[in-house]
Amino acid sequence: MAKKKITDAKNPVSVVTGGAGFLGSHLVDCLLARGHQVVAIDNLVTGAVENVAHLAGNAGFRFIQQDVTEFLFLDGPVDYVWHLASPASPIDYLELPIQTLKVGSLGTHKALGLAKHKGARFLLASTSEIYGDPLAHPQREDYWGNVNTVGPRGCYDESKRFAEALTMAYHRQHQVDTRIARIFNTYGPRMRLRDGRVVPAFISQALRNRPLTVFGRGQQTRSFCYCEDLIEGLYRLMMSRGNDPVNIGNPAEMTVLEFARAIIRLTGSRSKIVFKPLPEDDPRQRRPDISRAKELLGWAPRVALEEGIVKTIDYFQGRMEDGGGGCGNFTHKA
Ligand code: UDP
Repeated sequence: MAKKKITDAKNPVSVVTGGAGFLGSHLVDCLLARGHQVVAIDNLVTGAVENVAHLAGNAGFRFIQQDVTEFLFLDGPVDYVWHLASPASPIDYLELPIQTLKVGSLGTHKALGLAKHKGARFLLASTSEIYGDPLAHPQREDYWGNVNTVGPRGCYDESKRFAEALTMAYHRQHQVDTRIARIFNTYGPRMRLRDGRVVPAFISQALRNRPLTVFGRGQQTRSFCYCEDLIEGLYRLMMSRGNDPVNIGNPAEMTVLEFARAIIRLTGSRSKIVFKPLPEDDPRQRRPDISRAKELLGWAPRVALEEGIVKTIDYFQGRMEDGGGGCGNFTHKA
């Protein structure tokens, strides 16, 4: 189908799948602030209504509780489809492997179908996990990855690899105007306290003066991006030209052990560090090469780790005082 000219209207319409999730809800806020009308779709398996509760009564915002693997019917024009729906924490996708594969395959199919039908531009939230346990370092977009298809992380890695392939197929066969963002480790407010990822895990342990659980010897590396920077990168990517994948992440790399020490320091905690077994297939190193994002989008992260972590600590402190954890309600249905 022919590419539609994005509406000239002052208020383009955006659909955000996973719109009640950690990143989805920040994206919704960003789009509303930039004058979009936003429809957020989320089945609330790992997302939480409280992430969008502050938008109740906002005339530009609509929330639909639906599983994105089911047919998406929306009245009226849509200019942008942002497909973020998926469990994203290893703990979640190990618990929900079939749902994870379904949202990456069937859910991406439905979201692309919606974009095609509406003549909307489409952005896939892909992941650094498509590089697996990378043999190239830092990871550039032309690296094809090193994924164990039958390992425990295969459900997430392969669902996102399939989603990228399907996105390119819709682009090539149906001329849908697509974007692929490969998102590296991201953190910030609205992560669930108990989602199992290293940032909420270490911060909540440190705030309770409990031992920080470092997996392996903590020599594996990660590069952490603050959510605000990440969302700006996604927005610029959607508004840019070009259909090739783009890494969005912060190249400031550190070991998990260094990260644990930083969290103890920044929380002023009395916590010790304990070492636990390294999960199977845990990538040994990860750092984005962001040359493409810099060149195409004029984008680079601005928030230093310390600044972003302090904001995240504040958020978690508030959540703990409320006694909340915001854990998703796993349905165990597939
Ligand atoms: N990790 C850890 N302790 C924890 C949780 C995670 O040492 O309590 C490690 C994990 O093994 C990985 C890194 O922290 O090497 C990042 O884990 P996360 O689950 O945040 O995301 P991943 O990058 O593995 O998808």
